[in-house]
Amino acid sequence: MYRRVAIIGGGAAASALLSELLERQLPQPLHLDWYTGGVGAPRGVAYGTRSDKHLLNVRAASMSMFAAKPHGFLDFAQRGDGSIAGTDFLPRRLYGDYLEAEVARSLERARAAGHDVRVLPFAVDALVPENDGVTVIHGEENARVDAAVLAIGSLPPQPLGGVSEAALESGQYVTEPWSFLAGAQSDAHPRKVVLVGLGLTAVDVLLELSALWPNATFEAISRHGLLPEPHLKHASAPSDDGSELIESMREAPYIRTWIRLLREAVEQSDDWRTVVDGLRPHTPSLWALLPEAERSRFLRHARWAWERVRHRMPPQVMASMQALEDAGRLHRRRGRLQAVDVAGDKLHLDIRLPHGKGIETMDADLVIQTVGLNTDVRRTQHPLIRQLATNGHVAPDPLGLGVVASTEGRIMHGQQAWPRFYAIGTLLRGTLWESTAMPEIRQQARNLADRLLKGE
Ligand SMILES: Cc1cc2nc3c(=O)[nH]c(=O)nc-3n(C[C@H](O)[C@H](O)[C@H](O)COP(=O)(O)OP(=O)(O)OC[C@H]3O[C@@H](n4cnc5c(N)ncnc54)[C@H](O)[C@@H]3O)c2cc1C
Repeated sequence: MYRRVAIIGGGAAASALLSELLERQLPQPLHLDWYTGGVGAPRGVAYGTRSDKHLLNVRAASMSMFAAKPHGFLDFAQRGDGSIAGTDFLPRRLYGDYLEAEVARSLERARAAGHDVRVLPFAVDALVPENDGVTVIHGEENARVDAAVLAIGSLPPQPLGGVSEAALESGQYVTEPWSFLAGAQSDAHPRKVVLVGLGLTAVDVLLELSALWPNATFEAISRHGLLPEPHLKHASAPSDDGSELIESMREAPYIRTWIRLLREAVEQSDDWRTVVDGLRPHTPSLWALLPEAERSRFLRHARWAWERVRHRMPPQVMASMQALEDAGRLHRRRGRLQAVDVAGDKLHLDIRLPHGKGIETMDADLVIQTVGLNTDVRRTQHPLIRQLATNGHVAPDPLGLGVVASTEGRIMHGQQAWPRFYAIGTLLRGTLWESTAMPEIRQQARNLADRLLKGE
């Protein structure tokens, strides 16, 4: 067993790993240093929202932190309100309460069991992995641990190409929607707000700002101008176990073939959602079969369609989007942002239309970039990841999907895996593809806790 372990990150992934480690009966006390990165632990970005409009996009019954206690979150929610059902989409704020309660309980248990857990509210500045341990550096402090785990979530968003310095400095171009939402005031009066990107981040922004600014209208631009698909009110069960489809996909790991197979499976199903959801447990092993050129093809041609059907919104959120459109307050457009610059007291946008139809221009009081999670280690400004990449301690995924790692989450440098340096969650997208939501993260946390406690 590794006696000294460091967890770097203060969100749900770090919390799940911490709780997994501290839940076990251990033969010896554990020294655990938990670097939470400062404010917001253990809620992180997703569950730090205080808005009840922001709902989980996964049903309550599937949101436990613990793989071995799959109804943990549902039980917690039902203790507060017995009418809650496992199929409900509950507020993310409530999930943050659950994380806080579980982490507090684990820390209490750890104290009683004699473990030495230090909760360090700092960002780690640098890490030096070696074959027999990892040195963790923050400020003037150095700590040597037997093993370290990166649980830092996604990387800070970067402004899109074509956005001028003046636009960024104006404060009217928002790159980071979450901190913007947290500080948005009702006495600001933007009339026209443009959102760039139309996934679940845009939906969150629309829910919040349409209520805060009742006179504002919203233009949302994306490549296909489509919102995410909605969940059904009740979960639907697949008509078979999907094994035939998975087998056929394994036999021919080409994106074109997979799209054809999926179309055929959807045609034969009662509800396409069962086909999409049936792939989820198999996604990492299917992804592993794809050569880099096919992964790249997927990212160029099929990713947008996959994200729309895979990351769905609750039906009540869909109804809110529909109401905004019906009221003429939300317009969706197809196009790609080409340039943004300051024009008087507004921002001026050039949008490239599809099918070579030229450039459309538009003015806005505010532009918010809602393009989803950033995982591109090659271009990040995240200080710790830059330090690790610059020193060759981590290798960026060639397609911008986190760091190169083994399927167990061991971080690679060159062709080799560091024996005691791991990642969990979004940084593993390049290895597993499906690695950002709690159902996957909690399983990773469980497996990783097993490994750390065996000293593997
Ligand atoms: C808006 C939104 C909604 C979502 N909704 C759902 C949902 O309904 N269901 C679901 O399953 N998933 C959802 N997700 C996916 C989400 O990514 C995971 O559920 C989970 O929150 C990921 O947690 P994390 O700990 O990996 O990342 P984060 O929550 O981003 O936490 C990362 C932490 O690392 C810290 N950190 C960064 N750098 C350092 C450093 N150098 N030193 C120390 N700490 C550092 C940060 O401060 C932060 O605390 C959602 C994601 C978003 C963004």
